[in-house]
Amino acid sequence: MSFSSDVKTEACKTGITRSCCATAEMYGLMLYATAFSCREIRITTSNPALIKRMPTLLSKALKIEMPAFAASAKTTFQLTDKSVLGKVFTAFGYEFKDTALHLNRAIIDDECCISSFLRGVFLSGGAVMNPDKKYHLEFSTNHLTLNREMISLLLDLDLAPKTLKRKNEYVIYLKDSGHIEDFLTIIGAPVCAMRLMQTKVEKELRNTVNRQVNCETANLSKTVNASLRQVNAIKKIDRLLGIATLDKQLYETAMLRLENQDATLNELKALSKTPVSKPGLNHRLRRLLELSDKLKEDKG
Ligand SMILES: [Zn+2]
Repeated sequence: MSFSSDVKTEACKTGITRSCCATAEMYGLMLYATAFSCREIRITTSNPALIKRMPTLLSKALKIEMPAFAASAKTTFQLTDKSVLGKVFTAFGYEFKDTALHLNRAIIDDECCISSFLRGVFLSGGAVMNPDKKYHLEFSTNHLTLNREMISLLLDLDLAPKTLKRKNEYVIYLKDSGHIEDFLTIIGAPVCAMRLMQTKVEKELRNTVNRQVNCETANLSKTVNASLRQVNAIKKIDRLLGIATLDKQLYETAMLRLENQDATLNELKALSKTPVSKPGLNHRLRRLLELSDKLKEDKG
């Protein structure tokens, strides 16, 4: 199951108690339905929880019995009866004629009703991506005025809605994980909101660990590369001059490096028989490199 359908299933567990809220939820469902006109209202869904919820909601909200429908993988609820459609339009404060849809804020005056309304909007026209992939929640309509009014509603709720036009649809979307969490909590899906939050924490943790590993790997390869250059230089000196000809300090350092090729500078310092500082040791290794650079390969 997708994250979207998990959210819808959880939101559908919200009890239908107050009739004001039932009306608000139905209003959201219908505004973002596949069709909302004087000829038909059509809501299509593949979510079993919503399929079960619809008839109860419709009867509680508008005292309308749901006409017979065939529950299937993609169920369509359709109202076409003129008197029924007229009743719906009146209930939502619209004149019974085809018109550009707008948001009737009177229906969602109470805070309880705003939650229910947004739940309806999401159940009908919403989608949210799996937070493992991306933080993105959206719903769309082809009514420009409705889109504008929805944006101002979300702004009132301190969510930061963004909008774009996709073909002839106006899409409202949320990108911020915190705002998506808030939205899910508002519509009655706090468990999914929590899952999103956990995913975010895990993702951040993984990123931090990856950064550390990358950093350690980089340091390690730096150490290995430096050591390899030093070992090659010492071998060259040995081949062309013999390391026994080096002064005592350089000889000791060369032997130390040859015997401990994987060691970091700190480890070498600790392994040194005669005490030497880290800069001192570094200086000697550099002198070995310089000496090797000066030696011509063909000399011996
Ligand atoms: Zn209410």
